[in-house]
Parts: sequence; C-alpha cells; structure tokens
Amino acid sequence: MNVRAADFTKVVHAGVEADPRTGAIMTPIFQTSTYVQSAPNEHKGWDYSRAGNPTRDALEVAFAALEGARHGLAFSSGLAAEQAIIQILNPGDHVLVCDDVYGGTGRLFRRLFAKYNLSFEFIDMTDLVKLEAALRPETKMIWVETPTNPLLKVIDIEAVSRIARRGKALLVVDNTFASPLFQSPFEWGADIVVHSTTKYIGGHSDIIGGAVMVNDDALHEQIKFVQFAGGAVPGPFEAFLLLRSIKTLAVRMEKHAANGMEVAHYLKTHPKVAQVFFPGLPEHPQYAIAKRQMRGFSGMVSFNLKGNYDDVVRFLQKLEVFSLAESLGGVESLVNHPEKMTHASVPEEMRRHLGIGSQLVRLSCGIESAEDLIKDLKRALA
Ligand SMILES: *Cc1c(COP(=O)(O)O)cnc(C)c1O
Repeated sequence: MNVRAADFTKVVHAGVEADPRTGAIMTPIFQTSTYVQSAPNEHKGWDYSRAGNPTRDALEVAFAALEGARHGLAFSSGLAAEQAIIQILNPGDHVLVCDDVYGGTGRLFRRLFAKYNLSFEFIDMTDLVKLEAALRPETKMIWVETPTNPLLKVIDIEAVSRIARRGKALLVVDNTFASPLFQSPFEWGADIVVHSTTKYIGGHSDIIGGAVMVNDDALHEQIKFVQFAGGAVPGPFEAFLLLRSIKTLAVRMEKHAANGMEVAHYLKTHPKVAQVFFPGLPEHPQYAIAKRQMRGFSGMVSFNLKGNYDDVVRFLQKLEVFSLAESLGGVESLVNHPEKMTHASVPEEMRRHLGIGSQLVRLSCGIESAEDLIKDLKRALA
C-alpha cells in the first residue's frame, strides 16, 4: 500500500511549464484582473480573470493530472466547488447523498439548495440494496464521500457506479480524505471528482480552496460555465500556493499514512479507548473494499474514548503536539471533537443515528515523528 512511484514525478511537474517569456521555472503569479486587447475582443486568450488567469490555468491542468482526468477546475473553497456541481441540476431533481458526509456538505444541501426545489436524501451507502431501492426516475446524481467523515466508513465506488449507470445518474465522489494519490475514483466509474484543496492538497493550513475534475467534455463545459457565471474562483496567489503544495503531495501523503497507521494501532491497544475507526485496520467493516479501492489510508483516525464528556475535554486540553482545531490534512497534527465542532450543524437525531457522540474524537495525523505523536497521546490519555 503506497503512493505509486510515477506519482512522485507527476506531482512535481503537474501543470508547470517554464514561463515562455522569461524561462522562470515557477509559474508566475499573474496578479491582474484584466488584459490589454489589440482590437475589440482580440487578445492573447485571456480577457478577464474571473473567466481565466494564467496562474489558475496552470493549477487546473495540475488538478486534472492529479486525478488522471481530462479537465480540472479551481474554486475558492471546497464548498464552492460542490455548489458549482449542484448548480448543473434543475429544480425537481433528486440527489442521493451518503449519510456520513462532511457537515458543511449536508448544510449546503439541506439549508441552501433544498429551497430551490432540489431534494436530497441521505442514506447509508455501505448498504447497496438500500441504495438501489432509493433510486427514482428524477434521481440525477449520487453523491459519495469515501472514506467518510468522521467515522471513516468506506463506500464501494465501483458498485455504486454500476447503480448510478442503471439509474442514469451522475456519480460524484468527494475524494478529499483519500487525496488523489491514495484513491482514483475515475478508475472505479466516477463521473465527477471533487476535493476541498484546503485539506491534503493544500496541506499547510494556509489556504481555502476547491477542485473539480471531470473527463466528459460536455460536463466540463457545464461546470465551467457555473464557475465563470457564478465567479467563485481562487485568486492567483492561492493558485500559486496550491501549485507549490502539490509538488510535495506524494512525500507528505506517505508520511501522513504511516503516522495514521501507527497511531491507529497504538490507540487500539489502549485501555481507555473504546473503539478505533481507521480503514487500514483489518477489523474495519469495509477493510476488504478499502484495500482494493485505496492505495493508502491517509492520516485520519477517529476513536471513542471511554468515560464521559469531561474526560474527553481533559484529554483534548492535555494534548500538546495535536492542536484542537477544525480542518485536517495539514502538516501539523490536529484533533477535533466532531459533535461540538465540525459536525455541530448535523441534526442531532442524525448524529445519534450515525454514532457521532460526545466520546468521539477525530485526529488528523500530520507529518511529525510518529513517536512524538504517540508520546503525546499516551500522556494525554494517562
Ligand atoms: C473541508 C471539506 C469540505 C469543504 O471544503 P472547504 O474548503 O472547507 O469549503 C468538503 N468535503 C470534505 C470531505 C471536507 O473535509
């Protein structure tokens, strides 16, 4: 299980060409809103930076390369990317969404888009029989996040894609948790891949961003139109930072995955830990699917602590290497309390049904030494 050898080379060079005018090896930051024209509508391919910007163009080529797709599109946040995908739908359309999605995704669907007469049905997609039964003639999209957040369930993308084909629905996969280096949804039948580049792709906790990748030209045109007409684009500086981040994605992911594995194994043996959620543990209910579908398991590990909520707070406050903060996928390790933080917007009944309770803790293992991470957990659990 690991990053493919060729991906180490791909990430260093993806989207980047020496600047034709100067030879600069790094893509310049084209910090400009507009471009001088020689005659009305005669220009060098760029007329306004909402429509296109050379730094962003390089990033979009890099995004496509990361997922092995024909097209990439950059957005100002992961949720802006998701919004653009939903905006290709029409009123009356129905979307099946896996029940354990990122809290903000559920909020976007329930509170923003439901009022435009789009309906969203949240179901457990580890149950394929239930999924197939939930398809309706107006189901136009199936939305999968795998591994899920925060319980790290694994959904079989290939099996879901067969159901999507039968129902003539588009399959969208949020690939944020695995990163493009550990899971390639297009190889299993996805139509659209989305990432919050705020997480592993950005990797340094300094950018909010999103990416959409597609193979189909018509679908690309539709989403690109939303990007242009709606305007949720990243600025050239963010595009430059992401190009810089992508170069180290392979080395970072290897370390995140190694640390995640060590931390999961450590927690499993700790007497104060009730249950560990990590797709790389053989006792994980979808371990076989995870092993087939993923090339690594990333650095996300969730667990239930024994005791009560006060014990959890004490544990969170004793940690020193892990910082208590929202987000994930950065070089520094973070700890999160889903019930009170990232998943506070999920309806309480849904949280209870999913198993997101007061004792649940989610770790994002960074790229520090595994020994130091385990020492930190050991001290805080004592
Ligand atoms: C963070 C996250 C998002 C939303 O991305 P933003 O960049 O915060 O808008 C979507 N999906 C997943 C899985 C995430 O972790």
